[in-house]
Amino acid sequence: MQPADEILVGGKWRGGSGPVIETADPATGQVIARIHGAGVDDVADAVRAGQRAVADPAWRDLLPHERARYLARIADLVDGHAEDLARLQTADTGKSINETRALVASAAGTFRYFAAALETLEGALTPSRGPYLTMSVHEPIGVVGAITPWNSPIASDAQKIAPALAAGNAVVLKPAEWTPLVSLALGRLVTDSGLPPGLLSVLPGEGRVVGDAIVRHPGVGKVSFTGGTATGRAIGAVAAEKIMPVSLELGGKSPTIVFPDADLDQVVAGVLFGIFSSSGQSCIAGSRLFVHADVYDEVLARLVERAGKLRVGPGVDPATQVAPLVTHAHRDRVAAMVDRARDEGARVLCGGRAPDGPGAYYPPTILDGLDNDSATCQEEIFGPVLVALPFADEDDLVARANASVYGLACGIWTRDYRTAWRVARRVEAGTVWINTYKQFSVSTPFGGMKESGLGREKGREGILAYTRQKSVYLGLSEDPLPWA
Ligand code: NAD
Repeated sequence: MQPADEILVGGKWRGGSGPVIETADPATGQVIARIHGAGVDDVADAVRAGQRAVADPAWRDLLPHERARYLARIADLVDGHAEDLARLQTADTGKSINETRALVASAAGTFRYFAAALETLEGALTPSRGPYLTMSVHEPIGVVGAITPWNSPIASDAQKIAPALAAGNAVVLKPAEWTPLVSLALGRLVTDSGLPPGLLSVLPGEGRVVGDAIVRHPGVGKVSFTGGTATGRAIGAVAAEKIMPVSLELGGKSPTIVFPDADLDQVVAGVLFGIFSSSGQSCIAGSRLFVHADVYDEVLARLVERAGKLRVGPGVDPATQVAPLVTHAHRDRVAAMVDRARDEGARVLCGGRAPDGPGAYYPPTILDGLDNDSATCQEEIFGPVLVALPFADEDDLVARANASVYGLACGIWTRDYRTAWRVARRVEAGTVWINTYKQFSVSTPFGGMKESGLGREKGREGILAYTRQKSVYLGLSEDPLPWA
């Protein structure tokens, strides 16, 4: 699959009106593609084409099973090009091939799930208070903006495009500057599926220019955003001005909690996977580890020993567990945050220094010796860096786990189901994993509490988020209203 050098605007492939975007393989630093990126003119054209496409009876009047067929066809095309898509995403993001294969499979599954969801989406016949039928129905919004980050592009894109199309909308997608290739490849497959042109535009370009133009455009009726909390706050402010619904999937600093009765073999594997898979570049990374004092030394010793054996290497090698970070600049940012942790008084138990040589590598790093209110424990590092803290008392643990602006996810490891249930209900997190971590089902809503976001993706909430609700009263009486 050749990387695209053009962008998809309202059903047409063309060079964008913005600056050229260079994208590099983080394992080598070599430029793999130059794209004629989008500019604000392309946003205007994409929105206009989207408005036309949603109003066209060829899309507007499709029966649910006919619309579902398009989504199923896109899923088949994604499956049919799975290996190419996975390799392209590995080259663009640095991610390990095992992970990008899983992300591609999840994208296909997302299109299939929302094809089924749209066929089973029902309105409601509500109890009436007179001689009329009362109904509540869901309608498409029109043109929606989808803005995604670089860490899992094809899965994040599918999580927005599939439910938005399923609900009958057109989508203007803006992938992240660093990783546009797989989003453009997905755009090609959507074009090949025969979906009426204009329903999907893919506009790689600068967030503050192209992303901002999408959010502000009066023809865009909703924005679904995944990315950092600061960007989410800026988008939310524009949405408030426009009185526009917005979904925000933002950052996290998720606590993982280990009680002394936990199965420690499971703990070690689960904690390492929770923080070091995706090289820690995951919103749900289990980056704050609370371990009961009775088992703290043992758990930390085992984690450090195993972290040192994780295979760090290029994403294309199927044996790689910790692949390069997305860019050299991001790797340097992670390294600077570990240096700041040292300045805060952290003990570096393993890792903590970028290796010499090419590639944006950073080793699995475990820190401790810090208070929960240190910057290292409060700020998202978005790299392979775990910070461990001991605890003794459950109330104090819950207070510290919740002492964060974020509320995205939480892991709990214990054999006692009462403890698990009690703590799961007390922790402020949109997702709680008990004796497992980072597992997902497209049927299960996902989203954050507090500054981790607004709204939910996946599940039936995922499609409803792209609809507007309308109530309809259908008069049944043959008599005039008692008025005249
Ligand atoms: P980011 O906020 O810098 O960028 C995300 C997207 O927003 C990019 O496409 C960017 O170009 C665009 N953008 C930037 N400024 C914009 C503006 N003013 N208006 C409109 N769009 C703008 O985030 P990132 O660095 O790409 O991604 C990492 C962040 O994403 C982390 O904080 C991570 O936790 C978060 N994330 C959250 C989830 C989740 O589901 N909660 C999933 C993945 C990543």
